[in-house]
Amino acid sequence: MIVVMKIGSPEAEINRINEELSNWGLTPEKIIGKHKVVIGLVGETVDLQPEQIQEVSPWIEQVLRVEQPYKRASRQYRQGEATNVLISTPNGQVAIGENQPLVIVAGPCSVENEQMIVETALRVKAAGAHFLRGGAYKPRTSPYAFQGHGESALELLAAARKVSGLGIITEVMDAVDLDKIVEVADVVQVGARNMQNFSLLKKVGAQPKPVLLKRGMAATIEDWLMAAEYVLAAGNPNVILCERGIRTFDREFTRNTLDLSVVPVLRKLTHLPIMIDPSHGTGWSEFVPSMAMAAIAAGTDSLMIEVHPNPKKALSDGPQSLTPERFDKLMQELSVIGKAVGRWPQSAVALV
Ligand code: PEP
Ligand code: MN
Repeated sequence: MIVVMKIGSPEAEINRINEELSNWGLTPEKIIGKHKVVIGLVGETVDLQPEQIQEVSPWIEQVLRVEQPYKRASRQYRQGEATNVLISTPNGQVAIGENQPLVIVAGPCSVENEQMIVETALRVKAAGAHFLRGGAYKPRTSPYAFQGHGESALELLAAARKVSGLGIITEVMDAVDLDKIVEVADVVQVGARNMQNFSLLKKVGAQPKPVLLKRGMAATIEDWLMAAEYVLAAGNPNVILCERGIRTFDREFTRNTLDLSVVPVLRKLTHLPIMIDPSHGTGWSEFVPSMAMAAIAAGTDSLMIEVHPNPKKALSDGPQSLTPERFDKLMQELSVIGKAVGRWPQSAVALV
């Protein structure tokens, strides 16, 4: 349920209501919106009537039931307001959200060595990217495929962060690595294969860095939002949803089917920011530019593009990786669409 407070409600009264509702065994959460304060209520609310809560204070404007199973992730929970996820990077704060300029994330699938990660960082930064994304721990279908360099790759990401000033995004596969990853990463990625690893979701929800939650390859939109709910319920409000393609029947020409319809659908259902990953979504570098442009036209808040200095030699996902030159050209192409929708950044840094 959500309790909408009247404009100008005294803080002491809001705190008193919170206390009273806690005594009822509920978990009230104060949400400060642009115009109003809302108290979100999660817990055993099925037997409660909105009128009972309404009686607690004359400052309560209305009490609404959140019908969706995902409560905190629902658009209604924030009274229709979008969440901006604010991320601190060496270059300043970057905001990802519905009313913000587009944020571009780029980098190789795997961190292979210092030279390649630093070179990629500098190249994508020069082209206008805001984040470097590279995997230290890689979820591979085959146990014989390159698994990532692990902890030593985290050090290389830290070096690339220092040299470029870009924020770092990297994936956690196993909770035992989380503390080390959190030290280096500005955003922690949970990959498609772990989207429903609920114990991992609880743990990333209990650490302070924003979480990039990729859609499972066979996950419905509701599964995905419920996965986000785990992170939110564990206390981390900063979740970004990343569509990376789902499994359909064609595997001959595309690796996955990039479901761009999630952009308007998520916009309706949730306040959380949206990222589109056309690299995993298509599996082929030649298809990435058109789908990146389409994603901007559809209204995405951010893009994730795989870039490798020498895709032919990449240890993972070479066929879908752009060269730095192609990425540079793509950024110019994207700026045309980005400007047309009023979201092309001079800089996405320090907007708030
Ligand atoms: C990746 O981002 O490199 C990756 C493994 O992605 P996904 O989890 O979407 O397959
Ligand atoms: Mn990859």
